[in-house]
Amino acid sequence: MRITMIGTGYVGLVTGTCFAEFGHFVTCVDKVQHKIDQLNKGTVPIYEPGLDALIKKNTEEGRLSFTTDLSRAIPDAEAVFLAVGTPSSRRGDGYADLTYVYEAARDVARYLRGYTVVVDKSTVPVGTARQVERVLRETNPEATFDVASNPEFLREGAAITDFMRPDRVVVGVESDRAAQVLREIYKPLYLRDTPIVQTTIETAELTKYAANAFLAVKISFINEIAMVCEAVNANVIDLAKAIGMDGRIGGKFLHPGPGYGGSCFPKDTVALMRIVQEYGENVRLVEAAVEANAAQKARMVKKIREMLGGSETGKTIAVLGLTFKPETDDMRDAPAATILPALLEKGARIRAHDPKGMEEAKRSLPEAIEYKENPYETVVGADCLVLMTEWNQYRALDLQRIKRAMNTPIFVDLRNVYDPEIMRAAGFSYTGVGRK
Ligand code: NAD
Repeated sequence: MRITMIGTGYVGLVTGTCFAEFGHFVTCVDKVQHKIDQLNKGTVPIYEPGLDALIKKNTEEGRLSFTTDLSRAIPDAEAVFLAVGTPSSRRGDGYADLTYVYEAARDVARYLRGYTVVVDKSTVPVGTARQVERVLRETNPEATFDVASNPEFLREGAAITDFMRPDRVVVGVESDRAAQVLREIYKPLYLRDTPIVQTTIETAELTKYAANAFLAVKISFINEIAMVCEAVNANVIDLAKAIGMDGRIGGKFLHPGPGYGGSCFPKDTVALMRIVQEYGENVRLVEAAVEANAAQKARMVKKIREMLGGSETGKTIAVLGLTFKPETDDMRDAPAATILPALLEKGARIRAHDPKGMEEAKRSLPEAIEYKENPYETVVGADCLVLMTEWNQYRALDLQRIKRAMNTPIFVDLRNVYDPEIMRAAGFSYTGVGRK
């Protein structure tokens, strides 16, 4: 099949590359010339494990190309995927900003030739595909096309495996012809017995928000239980293991931490709240999860303050990990982006390290943060070490080296990577989340 991917970000680039790996001929389009230039020179603009090699292989084999030129990318495509960003609106009201989606639809419409399926891969409110259809029709009344919704469930950091071996593929489609095209695109997954759930377009659109909201609720739930564990002197790790063994609950997403972040959960939970409010209803559980998540981040600031004896003013805090999770360079809505400014505001000095996120952190976090080359440089003279993101390289730190370099050996482990007893035996004043 000939496929065009509009938007070459975390989703579009991975999806386009994986479709090429399936054997399709894929053109990835972005409106940012610099991104396309980089890709054409063999430089991948984002960090996603395994992506470089897969892009190289598929470009060399002639199935994957990159352009900003829609007149080259659209006319021959049998399917055009929209994978542009849908961030929270700049108005700050939590609604999804659909400007990029509609702009992309208008751009695409001009060049449609022959029957084409226009597939929405971006996470969008219910009704967006119908609007995309309207935009396409208004811009190019002659075009023959169908619109479909195919939300994406990949996780950054494991995106290629997630795409190649998904739990399921959701396809919202209402014409047999479009369904046939999408079946052909996902044929390699059909052959691997991946469940393909075919639904109406509205159901597919809502499925993505429902999945993210459920996971956000689950994280906020275990974070609140972690708070209770601290109050009653229980251990949340043992508790999570025990409840997670119940098949009805499941063990995944039961890891307490500094609160969820990233490019999806924060914006998608609030966007779902707004969609539902438009219909005069509320999703109270989701609203509570959003509130609990904000409270969790505030609680982490308090936890650090308490470990520092009640005030962070004038103290040097070493932070390991800035991205919202390991194995990505994505800083969007990372807990660090809330917690660090709160500490700085009270007069703390911050030194930080992250294996892949520092470039983006320098752009998006306050300028006062000092960046270091490795964890050991970061902790020199520090009054407290905060482990913010559980990158593998922070899992087996040389504890004695760290302790010797620090001013006071205080260790705040927001990901529960280390064993409290071992840390105390090593001479640290240690705290995690949900364990005394
Ligand atoms: P992103 O910001 O990384 O990428 C979007 C890209 O689209 C950018 O490169 C931008 O320049 C480009 N773009 C915008 N308008 C364009 C246009 N008119 N023509 C061509 N290119 C255009 O975003 P992302 O993280 O890849 O997310 C894309 C969508 O997928 C969002 O709706 C998001 O919610 C959803 N999603 C993201 C993830 C994730 O883990 N990042 C997972 C599942 C779903």
